[in-house]
Amino acid sequence: RIGAIIMSSHISEEIELKGIPASTGVAVGPAFVYLHSEPEIPVYEICEVQFKEEEARFEDALLKTRMQISEIRNEVAEKLGESEAQIFDSHLLVIEDQALIEETIKEIEVTKRNVEHCFNNVSQRYIAFFEQLDDEYFKERSSDIFDVTKRILKNLMGLDNKGQLNFETPRFIITDDLNPSDTAGLEKDNVLGIITEFGGRTSHSVILARALQVPAVVGIENLISKIKPEDNLLIDGYEGLVYINPKESTLHRYGKFKQKLEKLHKVFGEFAQTKPETIDHEKIVLMANIDNAEDVETVKVNGADGVGLFRTEIMFLRSNSFPSEEEQYQEYKKLALAMAPQTAVIRTLDLGGDKMLDKGLGGKKEENPFMGFRAIRFCLKHTQVFKDQLRAILRASSETKNLKLLYPMICGFRELVQANAHLNEAKNELKAEGLAFDENIKVGCMIETPSAAMISDILAEECDFFSIGTNDLTQYTLAVDRVNNKIADLYEPCHPGVVRIMSLVLKTGKEKNIPVSICGEIASDPVYVPLLMGLGCTEFSGAPSMIPELKCLISRIKTADVKLLAEKALTSRRSREILALMRDYQSSVMDDLMFEKES
Ligand code: PEP
Ligand code: MG
Repeated sequence: RIGAIIMSSHISEEIELKGIPASTGVAVGPAFVYLHSEPEIPVYEICEVQFKEEEARFEDALLKTRMQISEIRNEVAEKLGESEAQIFDSHLLVIEDQALIEETIKEIEVTKRNVEHCFNNVSQRYIAFFEQLDDEYFKERSSDIFDVTKRILKNLMGLDNKGQLNFETPRFIITDDLNPSDTAGLEKDNVLGIITEFGGRTSHSVILARALQVPAVVGIENLISKIKPEDNLLIDGYEGLVYINPKESTLHRYGKFKQKLEKLHKVFGEFAQTKPETIDHEKIVLMANIDNAEDVETVKVNGADGVGLFRTEIMFLRSNSFPSEEEQYQEYKKLALAMAPQTAVIRTLDLGGDKMLDKGLGGKKEENPFMGFRAIRFCLKHTQVFKDQLRAILRASSETKNLKLLYPMICGFRELVQANAHLNEAKNELKAEGLAFDENIKVGCMIETPSAAMISDILAEECDFFSIGTNDLTQYTLAVDRVNNKIADLYEPCHPGVVRIMSLVLKTGKEKNIPVSICGEIASDPVYVPLLMGLGCTEFSGAPSMIPELKCLISRIKTADVKLLAEKALTSRRSREILALMRDYQSSVMDDLMFEKES
């Protein structure tokens, strides 16, 4: 493929764009531009005999929209309760609004234009009218009309919400932003890489890109306007570079770089089935983060010691619904059986933040979703959704007894106690129904908020293990939104504040005799792992594909050296100093290998 691109690349000028490196790898190929922005509304003239046809199309679209909204309403009522479902009643009212309908029909007859165009004109007038009124109720109404209009227009234009990201041949996805629900449904084999205008290194869409093992670069301003559909692209996920129509010399350079990488990966691959151990025989546990029972194969191929984080919400995003207890049970059971006798840690639902279900399921958009109705907060309010999941996990634990449970985004003791109370209730129900489960299932608490870290000694009383979620712990400690590329340079897991807070939790773990693992993205970053080991961490969970490289790295580490590294980091003033310390250390243990492979 590189050859083919070389042939055609002389036609256009090479353009180099710099973004944030988000998933490693190098790839070359064509682009697929995917926009969340609204599709263009067609406009064309019609003659009088077509009026009835247009009206009929309008009626069909209204009917279809009504059915879709009723379906969502029922689902929300069943899963989240009647009061949450009521927002959809006002959407249904919009569809029945005779004035809106009659005005649209009149507009068709007067302007002799197609229904999409006329309906859009009329609804825009309504939205503008309600928006300018100084009344909260009417402002709400304008947003209802906006939501429903979009849905009706999509139905009129035959645009389905699903499957927009499926294409026949391998391509790069070029987009403003990628929702995890977009990424969750991707056809793995057809994605060469992901390039976005927005997002940060730990956006969930990027984490999913990493799971697909494709390169990703995020945060390139005005990306879309620079790329034409016929352009060829080269993406360097290490440096965060994207080349539009790369020159021969660029392709050549990267061709050689890819060869080197392949050699290096062969060397790492030899470590896949070894036990991770330092030079002085300190044993380290390396687990994998996955979100799909099907991914167990990758976990095994890369030689992970188990699954340290199973992100269950991705299953919800994939189906864009609330899977039933039985559906979840099947998935967790599959995971348990495939992993046994190794452990799999199933995290309870972490919806919210940048992981929202489409269609308004799960509630209205929030001003500050990461500070909002997310994870355990959602579950403690929607207890039936939570209970369904707890029952499914418990039932799946019965046979192999290798499952553990983990609660996300705990901020206080009360939340942990409440979550455990629901767990006990689920256990009692199952007992009463004669359904088996692992009575000794271990329960963990994510430490991903500063408050949880500060009271980790207290939280230790109510759980069996901790898992530090550094993606969120960094965001909440530094008050830096993890998906905002404008402040991506401030998102620093090596900030002295974050390093000290991680150190505190690891120390508490030792004092309270409670195991602590780290499961954020830095847990599989070879630059960070030595520091984290020096801080006292012996258990990591991260991207499965990184495990062989980490094993190789660990085999070259002396515990005393990383302890010294951590001591220096704990007295450093700036993130930059700590980053330099980590990089120097990594080079000191790995450079000969890199050098050897270069020659
Ligand atoms: C984390 O916050 O570090 C974590 C592992 O959870 P998530 O990335 O799913 O928020
Ligand atoms: Mg998190």
